[in-house]
Parts: sequence; C-alpha cells; structure tokens
Amino acid sequence: MRFHATTISRVSQLKNRAPVLFQSSQLRSNHQKRCNFGIAFDIDGVILRGRVPTGGSPQALRRLYGDSGELKVPYLFLTNGGGVPETKRAKELSELLGVNILPSQVVQGHSPFRNLLKKFENELIIATGKGNPALVMSEYGFKKVLSLEEYASYFESIDPVSQYKRWTTAPVSDRKTPAVPRYDVFSERIKAAFVVSDPVDWGRDIQVLCDILRSGGLPGDANRNQPPLYFAADDLEYQAAFPSERLGLGAFRIALESIFNIINPKGLEYVSYGKPNPFVFKNAEAILSQLQSSSCIDHSENNGVSGSHPFETLYMIGDNPSVDVKGARQVFSEEKIIMQNFQQTWLLTLLRRQ
Ligand SMILES: [Mg+2]
Repeated sequence: MRFHATTISRVSQLKNRAPVLFQSSQLRSNHQKRCNFGIAFDIDGVILRGRVPTGGSPQALRRLYGDSGELKVPYLFLTNGGGVPETKRAKELSELLGVNILPSQVVQGHSPFRNLLKKFENELIIATGKGNPALVMSEYGFKKVLSLEEYASYFESIDPVSQYKRWTTAPVSDRKTPAVPRYDVFSERIKAAFVVSDPVDWGRDIQVLCDILRSGGLPGDANRNQPPLYFAADDLEYQAAFPSERLGLGAFRIALESIFNIINPKGLEYVSYGKPNPFVFKNAEAILSQLQSSSCIDHSENNGVSGSHPFETLYMIGDNPSVDVKGARQVFSEEKIIMQNFQQTWLLTLLRRQ
C-alpha cells in the first residue's frame, strides 16, 4: 500500500521526472477492477478558504460519485480544524460543496478524543475552543463535560480582566450558563482538559488552564499533580480567509506551555492529536477501507458484491508540507513525496483518466 502526500502550494519540482499522470494510468486499469485507491483531503486552503470553495473543488468532488450519486472513489476530509460535531460539519460541507458527505467522511482534529471515552466517560472534564466544544465531547459520549467558559463563570474573579471584555459583560440574566453549577465544581476536581479547537479568549483560557493544571484540577488549591491535557492539533499556523496565515492551536500550546513552565516547578505534560500525528493517518486509512467496503462495488472479482481490498495507493492532498506531507511521510516512510503544482485541476485530470 502506498500513501502519497501531495501539496498544492508548491511549484512543481518534478519537471524531468515521470509525471503523476503515469500513476493515473495505472490507477485507471486497476480501478476498473475495484476501488484500489482512496483520497484524504485537507480542508482549509485546499477545499475551502474560509467558507468559500476554492479552485473548483465542488466540481472535482462531484467526479468522485457515480451517475446515481453513489460513492465511486472512497475519500474523506482530514482536517485539524473542528469545534463542531462531525454530524454538523458533514451537513455544512454538503451544503457548501453540493455533494452528500457522510459524518464518517469527516475526520477532525478532535475526532480521536472519542477513543478516550473509556478513561473519562463519567469523570468531570472541561473542553475549550471556538464553536461548541462541550457539545462535541458530549456527542462522543462523555457524561460530565463543561465548557471552559461555563466552568470559569462559576469562579468569581478567576479572570481579573473580564470586566474589560465587552463580550463577557452582558447582564447575568442574558447569559446562557446556569446560575447554579451542574456539578460540584468547588470540590470535585477536573480529571482532564481538552483543547478541542482554536481558543477564542487566549488570555482567559491560559489563566484558567494554568489554574486547573497546577492545582490538580481545582483552581485556587495548592499545587498537585497535573491532570491530563489533550490538544486536537498542533498547527503553528493555518490558511483561513485572511491573505496571510493565522496562528493555530500549536501557537496557543506554545503560549500556554511557556507560561506554565515558568510558574510551575514541573513542565507541562500534554498529548497532541491531529496531523502530522501518525495515528491520524493510520486511522484515515482504516476509515477509507470501511468506506471502500460499504460503498464501492467490485464488479470484476466479487460479482458485484461489496468487499474490502487493501489499497494500492492513498493520496493525501494538502497545502501544508509540515503537517500534511510530514504526517504521511512518517507513516509511510519508504514512499517518496510528490510535490506537484497541479492546483485543483490535478484532481479533475486524474479522475478523467480513470
Ligand atoms: Mg490546510
């Protein structure tokens, strides 16, 4: 099985080498037998820029479906973004791109958090980031989850500059958080903290996370062992609607870690998911296999009965060499990385030749 990572942001360095089309012709003959390749797309900077489809991506994606709308080529979106449940993100993407995208085709930075359910299902945990981080964790099955925003609201003066933030000075009656905490936050310790997506209020989140982490899960308490901390991704920067790149979760992690390591005798311990974590790419391959067996029909070898086959090639299409390409290279180190200035027309060309 081969996993090619392809970036669309680089000018071609392969003028004198066998072009990617050579592989396309190989794929063509194999694909007629079965779906022997799959595609993982990054979203930001590849499929969308902000909320706007980029470079003809809707037309390209439509070519991955048959005439009656069935999935012809197994593909998924592999993004470090998030903040909303996969069900909601799939619906949004379907509307923006004009194809029917299943929740299982959306793998976000925080998707691996569901694998921690056994450990923290009934424990008090907090989640922070843009969107609705607590809802994301609740949909994964975590029973006692509070957003950091709600959690902080129960601790008077925990954010000493909150009165200067216009968005936190709404009258108490207008706030959505319950007046009485749902859990005994003043005596029950936070067992784990999850940074689900890009934090909105870095100052507050760094303050409250430092409080939670150095007190062993109870702000204001004496120093204790740090509870586990998980990040959905570790991108330093990412491409959004603004012309130059924006600071990402990795930048927030550096800020938090730098401060924590000065005020706490022991360094910050954490786990980061998202690309380029090799787990993410292995997980993507497993999901693509499931899609292959449930959606793609083998016409030649199984008499039209669905069946899973090992992939000969997987394509990772991204715009960030340090995340998209590096991740694929770590998992499938024997393979060379293809850099091709194809823009989105590359996909159209490839699929036309199937
Ligand atoms: Mg990107």
